[in-house]
Amino acid sequence: MNQPVSPNCATGSTIRQRGQHEVFCGLTSIIWLHRKVQDAFFLIVGSRTCAHLMQSAAGVMIFSEPRFATAIMEERDLAGMADMHDELDAVVDKLLQRRPDIKMLVLVGSCPSEVIKFDLSKAAERLNRVHAPNHRVLCYSGSGIETTFTQGEDNFLTALVNEAPRAPARNPAKLIVAGCLPDVVEDQFARLFEDMGVDGVEFLPGRNSSAMAGIGPATRFILAQPYLGATAAALESRGAKRIDALFPLGEEGTTAWLQAIADAFGVAEDRFEAATAAPRKRAQAALKAYRPWLDGRRIFFFPDSQLEPSLARFLFRETGADILEVGSPYLHREHAAGELALLPPGTSISEGQDVDLQIDRARASNPDLIVCGMGLANPFEAEGRLTKWSIEFAFTPIQGYEQAGDLAELFVRPLKRHSVLSEGLG
Ligand code: SF4
Repeated sequence: MNQPVSPNCATGSTIRQRGQHEVFCGLTSIIWLHRKVQDAFFLIVGSRTCAHLMQSAAGVMIFSEPRFATAIMEERDLAGMADMHDELDAVVDKLLQRRPDIKMLVLVGSCPSEVIKFDLSKAAERLNRVHAPNHRVLCYSGSGIETTFTQGEDNFLTALVNEAPRAPARNPAKLIVAGCLPDVVEDQFARLFEDMGVDGVEFLPGRNSSAMAGIGPATRFILAQPYLGATAAALESRGAKRIDALFPLGEEGTTAWLQAIADAFGVAEDRFEAATAAPRKRAQAALKAYRPWLDGRRIFFFPDSQLEPSLARFLFRETGADILEVGSPYLHREHAAGELALLPPGTSISEGQDVDLQIDRARASNPDLIVCGMGLANPFEAEGRLTKWSIEFAFTPIQGYEQAGDLAELFVRPLKRHSVLSEGLG
């Protein structure tokens, strides 16, 4: 069913659709989360399908010692013929005996565990009583019934916030930067905060499981990723206050994001300028090289990661691209308001998906580039259309000044490849 809604911004009415959708489930976020939190282990309580998804997705994209696995539910578990709690306890015992280096064990729910109503939080509580303090145990849902791939991260961060100490149990964090960032990006932001004189900064998630400071009314937080509605709500329920800003994509987004922090912490204008002037210039110079490829290109976004409004804003404002439709699996109106306001007037925004209708719209608008999931990309390529896998934006360092050029390059790559191949054939 289509339901146009008038948003509070310059964009056109929102197309809301519910139907067949093609998006990875929340388990997929384990691929970047396990690389970030280096003493954590993610144990999926799921089926062989879940194990295959993780093996094929992770096998293609990562090359590192595994810090995730699947406790496979067999038919007798699904039929209620075995006690899943006993079986899970045995699997966890074996795992923790073999891997004493694991400090945080994360049980991740899936569609099958949800369908049989397996109480993962009860299992996590019980296992935590047995294995803490050597191994903390927590849980969240990555089920495809209720999450798309970035929402898996949202659920994980929510679980971390819920078990963080309450201020003033420890000195509260002054600023929490919420959203999983590659280490290289985290380091760059940490240096910029230092140059701006902002201290007491915590990154969520941290690089190890014991890094969380207390959270309370004296804590401010800023989202580094746009898909963290549940995490923001959990932080706000502790009294932490959100700093509203654009997301740190591109030179403009990064400057606005840092400026919002500077304003919240009373950083003097000249100090902000001194900290950001050089990296801003580097970002502008890097973007210049890609602008000729993207200027005037017509781009269509399918809904995958919730990064779409920010990516579209970046492309329109900093590379001159023309935005045809911005799809997002879910739109957090408050968090995305700044992004939507900067899109060209009349841009078509869609929330949710009825994939066949959206494919029809994409074909009818005949874009120069389609940003979509892997399942849609191959058929579109077979039609001679150019595509970009949306999941690459979740895996690649794209935030901050030093990555602004790399972000543009991700969109340029298929256009360049097409150009080279066309010349070769010509
Ligand atoms: Fe498939 Fe659900 Fe398992 Fe994801 S959690 S791999 S959607 S069965």
